[in-house]
Amino acid sequence: MRLSRYFLPVLKETPSEAQIASHRLMLRAGMIKQSSAGIYSWLPLGYKVLKNIERIVHEEQQAAGHIPMLMPTLQSADLWRESGRYDAYGPEMLRIRDRHERDMLYGPTNEEMITDIFRSHVTSYRDLPMTLYHIQWKFRDETRPRFGVMRGREFYMKDGYNFDIDREAAMHAYNRHLVSYLRTYERMGLKAIPMRADSGPIGGDDTHEFLILAETGESEVFYDSAITDLHLGARPIDYDSVEQCQAVFDEWTAPYARTDETHDEALFEETPEERRRVSRGIEVGQIFYFGTKYSESMGAKVTGPDGQVVPVHMGSHGIGVSRLVGAIIEASHDDKGIIWPEGVTPFACGIVNLRQGDSECDAVCAQIEAELMTAGLDPLYDDRDERAGAKFATMDLIGLPWRITVGPRGLKNGVVELTSRRTGESEEMSVEAAVDRLVQIYTS
Ligand code: ATP
Ligand code: MG
Repeated sequence: MRLSRYFLPVLKETPSEAQIASHRLMLRAGMIKQSSAGIYSWLPLGYKVLKNIERIVHEEQQAAGHIPMLMPTLQSADLWRESGRYDAYGPEMLRIRDRHERDMLYGPTNEEMITDIFRSHVTSYRDLPMTLYHIQWKFRDETRPRFGVMRGREFYMKDGYNFDIDREAAMHAYNRHLVSYLRTYERMGLKAIPMRADSGPIGGDDTHEFLILAETGESEVFYDSAITDLHLGARPIDYDSVEQCQAVFDEWTAPYARTDETHDEALFEETPEERRRVSRGIEVGQIFYFGTKYSESMGAKVTGPDGQVVPVHMGSHGIGVSRLVGAIIEASHDDKGIIWPEGVTPFACGIVNLRQGDSECDAVCAQIEAELMTAGLDPLYDDRDERAGAKFATMDLIGLPWRITVGPRGLKNGVVELTSRRTGESEEMSVEAAVDRLVQIYTS
C-alpha cells in the first residue's frame, strides 16, 4: 500500500477525552472514530488489526476442532423468556420493538440462540461432542463505556458453545478451550493468564478468565509470579487427547492466580512470599462450564447410548476480539506510539523514502515494495513528499514492527537500513538481505 493513496487520518494533538494509552494511540493513529458513546467506526488501519486478530482466533478455534458459523445480532425476546434471562439481564440489554410490536433485542451473548439451534436438529449422543462458535458484534449497554474499544457498548466477540453428553466430556471441552486460548493469545504476542473467576449473569460452576497484566486493567488480580514463566510455545497438542489437555490445564492452574472476586488470602499465602503479586489485569477472554442450565430450561436433550433421554452439558467460551486491539496496545507501546507484535500488525513493515522524487530512491523503494508483496508480505510505503522526521514519527506512531529506510547516502554504498520498532536498533544491509530477513521473520 502506498501511503499517499491510503486513508490514515493521524492526529497531531493528543485527544483529551482519552484516559489511557491504548485509547489515545488508537485515536492518534487513525484507527477508530467514535460514532456515539461506546460505539466506533473502524478506520482502515484499525480494521486491519481487528481482522488479523479475528483470523488468528478462527485458525486456533478450527485447529481445536470447533465449527464456525454465524448467528444474527438481533434476537427474539421469546427465546430469552424461555431461559428466564429476559428479565434477569437488566438494563445492559438493548431492547428493541419491531413494527409488529414484537420484542427483539440486540444480542449481548448467544446461549439461548445456540441452544435453540441445537435442540432443533440434534437428538442423539452420536452427534456429540460438538462445539459451535461464531465471531459477531454484541451489544451491552454498559453504564460507563470507556477506554475506547476496551469497554465499548458495541463490541466484537468470539463466542463458542460446547455440547457434550456428560460433565466429564464437557470438562474436556473446557480444558480444550483453555489450551486453544493460550495458543491464541501467544500468537498475538500476549501473555494472558488464566485466573479462577466468578461466573456472573451467565451462571455456572467452573470458570476461568484470561487476563493480561496492565496497570490500566479494570480487575484486581492476585497471582504467583511462577505462572508468568509458562509458555505453550510450539509444543504439539492433540486436542482430542483428554490427557494432553488436562496436563496443560494442570500446569497453568497449579500456581495461584485469581481475580478479586474469588481471591482467597489464606490460600494465596501458601505461595512463597517473594512470588506473590498483586496487580491489575485486562480481561481478554473467559471460559465457562455451566452444565445443564440452558439445556434443562430450553429442552436441549439427546438420547444417550443406553436409550435414556438426557439434557446435554454445555459451556460457553468468549474472546474479546475488539477489546484485544486495545489490550495489545496497552501491553506493547512506548512514548512514541504503538509497537505491534508481528502476529497482528496491520502492515509487515514500513518503507520510508528519504528523498521522494529522486529516481534511484523511488526505484529502490518500488522494488522493495514489489518483492515483499511477491513474498506475500504487506508493506506500507510512505511515498509522500514529507520531511524524514515526519515520516519516522508516523511510522513510530502506527507501530509497524519493522522499517526499511531508503536514502541517497546509503544507496551510494548499496545499502538500505532495517530498523526494529521494538528495540530501535538499525542495521545497514543490501536490499536482498533486508527482504530476506523480513520474509524469514514472518514465515518462521
Ligand atoms: P467484563 O467483566 O469486562 O464486563 P464480561 O465478563 O461481562 O466482561 P464475557 O461475557 O465474559 O464478558 O465476554 C467475553 C469477552 O468479551 C470478555 O472476556 C471481554 O474480553 C469481552 N468484552 C466483554 N464486555 C466487553 C465490552 N463492553 N467491550 C469490549 N469487550 C468486552
Ligand atoms: Mg467475562
